[in-house]
Amino acid sequence: ARRKLIAGNWKMNGLKADGLALASDLAGRLKGAGVVAFDMLVCPPFPLLFPVHEAIADSPLALGAQDCHAKTSGAHTGDVSPVMLKDAGCRFVIVGHSERRADHGESDAEIAAKAAAAHKEGLVAIICVGETEAQRDAGQANAVVSTQLKGSIPEGATAANTVIAYEPVWAIGTGKTATPDDVKAMHAHIRAELDGKIVEPDAVRILYGGSVKPGNAAELMAVDNVDGALVGGASLKADDFWAIGVSC
Ligand code: 13P
Repeated sequence: ARRKLIAGNWKMNGLKADGLALASDLAGRLKGAGVVAFDMLVCPPFPLLFPVHEAIADSPLALGAQDCHAKTSGAHTGDVSPVMLKDAGCRFVIVGHSERRADHGESDAEIAAKAAAAHKEGLVAIICVGETEAQRDAGQANAVVSTQLKGSIPEGATAANTVIAYEPVWAIGTGKTATPDDVKAMHAHIRAELDGKIVEPDAVRILYGGSVKPGNAAELMAVDNVDGALVGGASLKADDFWAIGVSC
């Protein structure tokens, strides 16, 4: 069985004091809870990675980053490489988030290169896919996601080094979530598409993201082929994020 992964994408939120308080709170709850049915991950902004890692190092709470460059080092002003993320204590990195695809024009090929670079450093790449509202309305959601998967999953991807996150763009930060039926259909589609692209496709975790909250998490996490959540806004409050984990 696939163990659920509850991942918090803090996006561009949180200064040092807030981030440390949030991460320490979650780490303490995880330690106190003992055996839980889910893995929990926080992905803070780059400047907080080192201090958050120090604060949670003795807990099962995992650390990830929100993006990486495809190269190890060099003349790439403003970028951060996978080896730096590993040095900062990260085990995971999100690549191809729709906000990066939109704000930075990232292509599927660039995302695949980032994921491959992450794999080379032993990081787990969380590869994000998802259609816009216009694409869904035009009946293209499955085709769009197929294209993204085909282009964004690198050679050498396995169930151990890769997680897929399905995040319909129209559900991100909008309070709208896909219906459980739509999520079920898309996650089944994604699972089928992983065949031939990832080693051990049946073991790959497929997360749902887009306005996941304590009030809808149990319903969404119970859907076939939903192996966790990638949470934005609700991951910034310890009570809410913890409640999403506990709903697994
Ligand atoms: P929200 O949970 O705020 O809708 O964001 C989802 C997301 O983009 C996580 O990566």
